[in-house]
Amino acid sequence: MSEPTVTPMMAQYLAIREANPGALLFYRMGDFYEMFFDDAVAAAAALDIALTKRGQHLGQDIPMCGVPVHAAEGYLLTLIRKGFRVAIAEQMEDPAEAKKRGAKSVVARDVVRLVTPGTLTEESLLEARRHNFLAAWAEVRDEGALAWVDISTGEFRVMPCSLVRLGPELARLAPREVLVSEAREADCAPLVAEARAALTPLSRASFDSQGGERRLCAAFAVGSLEAFGAFGRAELSAMGAIADYLDLTQRGKLPLLRAPLRESPGGTMQIDAATRRNLELTQALSGGRDGSLLVAIDRTVTAPGARLLERRISAPSRDLGEIRARHAAVRFLLGEPRLAEDLRADLRRVPDMDRALSRLALDRGGPRDMAAIRNGLEQAGRIAARLTASEAPHLLTDAATALVGHDALVALLDAALVAEPPLLARDGGFVAPGHDAGLDETRRLRDEGRGVIAGMQAEYIAQTGINSLKIKHNNVLGYFIETTVTHADRMLAPPLSETFIHRQTTAGQVRFTTLPLSALETRILNAGAHALEIEKRIYDSLRGAILDQAGPIGAAARALAEIDLTAAFADLAAAEDWVEPVIDDSRAFEIEGGRHPVVELALKRTGEPFIANDCALSDGETPAIWLLTGPNMAGKSTFLRQNAIIALLAQAGAFVPARSAHIGLVSQLFSRVGAADDLARGRSTFMVEMVETAAILNQADDRALVILDEIGRGTATYDGLSIAWAVLEHLHATNRCRALFATHYHEMTALGAKLSGVENATVSVKEWDGEVIFLHEVRKGAADRSYGVQVARLAGLPQSVVDRARLVLEALESGEREGAARKQAMIDDLPLFRAAPAPRPAPTPAGASPLENRLKALHPDEMTPREALAALYELKGMV
Ligand code: ADP
Repeated sequence: MSEPTVTPMMAQYLAIREANPGALLFYRMGDFYEMFFDDAVAAAAALDIALTKRGQHLGQDIPMCGVPVHAAEGYLLTLIRKGFRVAIAEQMEDPAEAKKRGAKSVVARDVVRLVTPGTLTEESLLEARRHNFLAAWAEVRDEGALAWVDISTGEFRVMPCSLVRLGPELARLAPREVLVSEAREADCAPLVAEARAALTPLSRASFDSQGGERRLCAAFAVGSLEAFGAFGRAELSAMGAIADYLDLTQRGKLPLLRAPLRESPGGTMQIDAATRRNLELTQALSGGRDGSLLVAIDRTVTAPGARLLERRISAPSRDLGEIRARHAAVRFLLGEPRLAEDLRADLRRVPDMDRALSRLALDRGGPRDMAAIRNGLEQAGRIAARLTASEAPHLLTDAATALVGHDALVALLDAALVAEPPLLARDGGFVAPGHDAGLDETRRLRDEGRGVIAGMQAEYIAQTGINSLKIKHNNVLGYFIETTVTHADRMLAPPLSETFIHRQTTAGQVRFTTLPLSALETRILNAGAHALEIEKRIYDSLRGAILDQAGPIGAAARALAEIDLTAAFADLAAAEDWVEPVIDDSRAFEIEGGRHPVVELALKRTGEPFIANDCALSDGETPAIWLLTGPNMAGKSTFLRQNAIIALLAQAGAFVPARSAHIGLVSQLFSRVGAADDLARGRSTFMVEMVETAAILNQADDRALVILDEIGRGTATYDGLSIAWAVLEHLHATNRCRALFATHYHEMTALGAKLSGVENATVSVKEWDGEVIFLHEVRKGAADRSYGVQVARLAGLPQSVVDRARLVLEALESGEREGAARKQAMIDDLPLFRAAPAPRPAPTPAGASPLENRLKALHPDEMTPREALAALYELKGMV
C-alpha cells in the first residue's frame, strides 16, 4: 500500500489554514469560496448548506462546502452574526499564469482580509443607523485606557478607563468586538460578554505601548503623536493594539482613520450599564430596539444623523456651553419652520459619505460610493447656502463652513460619473460619456462596431466601384470583404491588389481583408477589454482625488450629521410640543408637566391621554428627594423614568417633553429597579439588586440624579423595608443627591416627616364601587393604601381568590391596629401563613454540628454569587 500523498493544492490549503487560526477559511476556487475539513462542517451547519466531500486527505474523505462568490456577503453576515471570524483567501494570479508554470502548479492564493465583527465595512454587513465599534482595553502599571474605532466611518477615540469603569463604558459604546491582552482575558471576559461583544485576546506584544506609538505614527504618517495630544502609556497601548489588529485583519491596508480624539470621562454624563438597561435608552428591556427611547425620538433623515443621535443619547454632555449652543440651534430651526423643512428635504438626499469614504480608502468601494460622495457634497453646498443666508446661530454656521469648498471635486465627479453608477467597478459602465475621448472612442468601437464596419464597406464600394461588395464576419476568418468571383480578376490586380489582400476563394466568392479592416477587427475585439481598462484607470484617479480630500469630506459629513440631528430635534419639539429646558450650574430639578416620551407614544396608539406630572427636587428650600408611594400600576415607574429621561434629553441637546424644565447639570444618572429578573446572568435577583444599589451609594455625588424603583422588593418584607429605609437615609445624609425613590412600603412615609430633605409624594388613585381607577397624577403626600387586591382583580385573578385576599387583608389590617401580638395571633389563625416548623438537626458525635461541617466545606473564593446566596439560605435553614 502506498503512502497517501497530499495534493499540491491541499498542501497550499493547509499552509494557509495553519497561518490563520481561529477563523473559518474561505478558500477561493474560481467562482466559489470553498471550505474544507472542520470549517466545512461548522459552516455547513451555521449556513444550512449542503456538506459534500472532495477527494481524500491521508486516506480520509475531505468534507467540503462552498458559497458562490457573488452571494458571499450574505453568508458572511450570517457567519459573523453567529460569532465566527472568516479569513478570505483569494487567488492572487490568473489561473492561466499558474498553468504556464506547469500542469501541476497551483494558483497562488493568500488571505487578503480577516473579517471580524469589529472590522466590517460593507454596506450589506453593517447596520446603516448604528456604529460598528472595535474597542481595545489596555492597562499599563495601574493606568487603564479604552480606545475605540469605527473603521466604517474613521471615528477613533481614546479615554482613560480603569477596569472598574470598563463595564459602563462598554455599555455606552456597545462595541461589536473588544481587544484585550491575553493576560487580562479572564478579568475582561465577563464585562465583554455583558456588553454582548466578541472578545478577541491578543498577545502582549500587540499591547506594547512603544510599539503602539510606532504603529500609530506610521498609520498617521507623523513623526510624533504629540500633534494629536499628550497620551498616557495605557492610551498608547490601547490605540496601538487597535492599529495592530487592523493591520492583521486588513492585511496591511490601513483604513482611513481620523486623528485620535481624547475623550475626558468628566465631559459626559456618567450612566452605567444597569441604568441604560432600565431606562431603555437604545434597547428595550425585551431586547429589541423597538420600545427604546432612541426609536421613539429618532427623526433624523440620514444614517450618520441617526448614529450621532445614538452617540448623544448614550453620552449626554456635561458642558454647559456645548449644551446651550445645541439648544440655541434647535430653537432657531424651530422658529424657522420653512428653512428647517428645506434643510431636511436636502438632507434626505445626502448619502452615507463616511462609510462610502472608508470603503474607498480600503479599496473595497465602487463607483456607487463615489457617486455618494458626489451627491453628498453637492447637497452640502446647497445646505450651506441656505444656512449662510439665514441668521443661524454659530453651531449651524460653523457647520456650514465645513460644507463648502468642495466645488472642484464635485465638478470632477459630476463630469466623470454617470448619474446612477453600478455598485462595482468590475463591469465598467460608470464613467460618463464625454469625460474621456479615448474611452468614448473605445466604447463606440465596442458598441457600434457594426456601424463602423458599415462605414468602411461604403468606403470600399466607392473605391472599387463594386456595389455588391460586402464586409462579413465568420468565426474562422473573423471580419472579411467579399465579392463575387466575377470581380476576382480586377480585385487581384493592381491597383486594388495593393489594398485588398486575398484570403480565400470559394465556389462563388472571393474574400479579402485590408490592413485597416484587420486593425479595426482587433480593436473591436479588444475594445471591451480596453474600455474596462480605461475605466479602471479613471476609477483609480478619481479615487485618488477623493482620498486627497478625505479630511474635508469627513468634516462635511460630520457637519451634515450635526445639522440633521438639530433639525430632527426641532421637528420633534414642534410635533410633540416639547420645550427648551433651562440648564445651569445649580442643583435645581424643576419639571412642570413632564411626560414619558415612550409611554406617551404607546398610549397615543391606544387613544389614551398621558397625564403630565410635575417634579421639583432642589437643595435648600425644597427637598432633594421625593419618596413616592402608591399602588402598583399607578404610574410610579413611569414618573421616575420620565424625569431621568428629561434630564438626559436636555443634556443630549434636545428639547424635553414638559411644559417647562429647569435642570442643574446632572453629572451622573442612576436608575435601579428592584428585583429585575436576571436569571440569565446566573445571579440571584436580590443579589443583583444589592450589588447595583451598593454601586450607587458608593459613587453618587451631589450632582447625581438617582431614581430607585422598589429597592428591597427582592427579599422578605422586613429585610426589604429595612434596606430601603437605610438606603434612603444614606442618599439623604451622605450622597446628598437629587433622587426619586418609589416604594410600596408605606412604613417609609414616616421618613418624609423625619428628614428635612425628603418629601412624600403619591400617585393618585380613586376607588369607585370596589374598583380602583388610576388617575396617574403625582401629588404631594403619602398614599393611604396599596390597592393591591383591587389590582389583582383587574389582572383577572379568580373572584374566589380576590374575595379571600380581601378577607385576609381586613384581618391583617385590624390586627395591625390592635398591636403586634394580636397581629401574630391573626396570622396564626390564617392557615395560609402557617409555616411548618423546621426540624432541628442533631449534633454529630464528633462534637462538630452539621452546620459547622457544612460551613467548613464551603470555599467562598470559588463560589459564584448565586452559589453563595444559595449556601446562605441552606445554612439559615439548618439553624
Ligand atoms: P407602577 O410603577 O406604579 O407599577 P407604571 O409606571 O409601570 O406603574 O405604570 C403602569 C401603566 O400605567 C403604564 O404602562 C402606563 O400605561 C400607565 N401610565 C403610567 N403613567 C401614566 C401617565 N402619567 N399617564 C397615563 N398613563 C400612565
